[in-house]
Amino acid sequence: MIKSVRGTKDIFADEAYLWNQIESIIKNIFFGFNFFEIRTPVFEHTELFLRSVGENSDIVQKEMYTFQDKSGRSLTLKPEGTAAVVRAGIEHNLFDAYQKLFYISPAFRYERPQNGRYREFYQCGAEFFGCENSECDAEIIFLADKILRDLGLKNINLKINSIGCKNCRQKYNSELKNFVRVNLQDFCSDCQKRFATNPLRILDCKKESCKKFLSDAPNILDFLCDDCKNHFERLKNLLDKLKINFEVDNKIVRGLDYYTRSVFEFIYNDIAICGGGRYDNLVFELGGKKIPAVGFGFGMERLISVIKEQNLFCDCKNRLDLFIGNMDFESREKAFLLMNYLRAENFKIEYNNQERGIKSQLKNALRLNTKFFMIIGDEELKNNVAKIKNLESKKEYEVGLNEDEIKKFLLERKSLEEKSL
Ligand code: AMP
Repeated sequence: MIKSVRGTKDIFADEAYLWNQIESIIKNIFFGFNFFEIRTPVFEHTELFLRSVGENSDIVQKEMYTFQDKSGRSLTLKPEGTAAVVRAGIEHNLFDAYQKLFYISPAFRYERPQNGRYREFYQCGAEFFGCENSECDAEIIFLADKILRDLGLKNINLKINSIGCKNCRQKYNSELKNFVRVNLQDFCSDCQKRFATNPLRILDCKKESCKKFLSDAPNILDFLCDDCKNHFERLKNLLDKLKINFEVDNKIVRGLDYYTRSVFEFIYNDIAICGGGRYDNLVFELGGKKIPAVGFGFGMERLISVIKEQNLFCDCKNRLDLFIGNMDFESREKAFLLMNYLRAENFKIEYNNQERGIKSQLKNALRLNTKFFMIIGDEELKNNVAKIKNLESKKEYEVGLNEDEIKKFLLERKSLEEKSL
């Protein structure tokens, strides 16, 4: 048997229905904040990620799915969403005016699979181009927070930091290197490499053996230039005014090279379910104009695993309005015709499509999570009346055996349900 590839998963049945529900709630929030969808290809020229995510980042060094196509081009499956959005925005002149874009897209990283870490996963991101003010950082964070709030998630902590501009970072990096140099031989081999290529990333190392040295490391916030300091102070001030709780954590630096100034993560039980920040140089570095930007990306699997853990959306299943059972050739045809008429009227209906006993039809109806169940047999056809049973309350109703009466019945039930909500 051929099995799915390590680090990938199939999403189907109730799980797929839940994904759809969540995605549609999130998309509506995006549209409400005036963000428009962008869909970019699953693969891009490898160079795009070398120049954006960074040649020395873990993603580029160890995690990309890179291959040559038949004409020898080096292509890479997107390891994240932002770079492709920036590439597309430059290519289609989307950044002439300010631009707010969102995407829900697969991403691929060759990482060690474990809980919440896959080799193919979905990122749902928002990117706000063309505005440098802290208000836009606050708008982006408010948007991510609104998604979490509307989905009902609890115990999520927002951590923010500023990694400043290139100038602030240059000063900080040399100070951090002086600090780390003393114990360099005791840091992990990755951090030893980072020491030479991207010292800031040492702060993000998850290994306890490295973390223990870093508690007294110099604080990046002490190295911000006046502009970056003001930008960060204003962001904190706005988040306070928006009543968004946050904690400043000067160890949050993010794993991608393109970030400048604000960076943030929404964390649940030590796991980042959303990460983001400002990237004021990326559009320019990829060949566009000097357009500042800020954005975030949710990991959909992580988001949905918290939703499940917290028992949110537990009643979120594809529900049928009615299952139409039947006894023989004639009643099956009647059921089939009724089903199609009612489907055309936008009701969710299934029927029994082969010879089965009543018990097994009822079992099937329950498996399909139907609200109402009816059986058509000789008697019902002769009298033109059938019983419809509510499978939850067990109440039975008599209804004329024709499209209009069943439609009227279902509509009445729907409006009663809506009133009782
Ligand atoms: P990043 O692009 O690394 O900032 O990641 C953005 C978000 O994507 C993270 O906060 C995670 O929720 C999610 N994510 C990153 N890598 C993975 C992975 N290998 N598997 C599942 N989700 C991931």
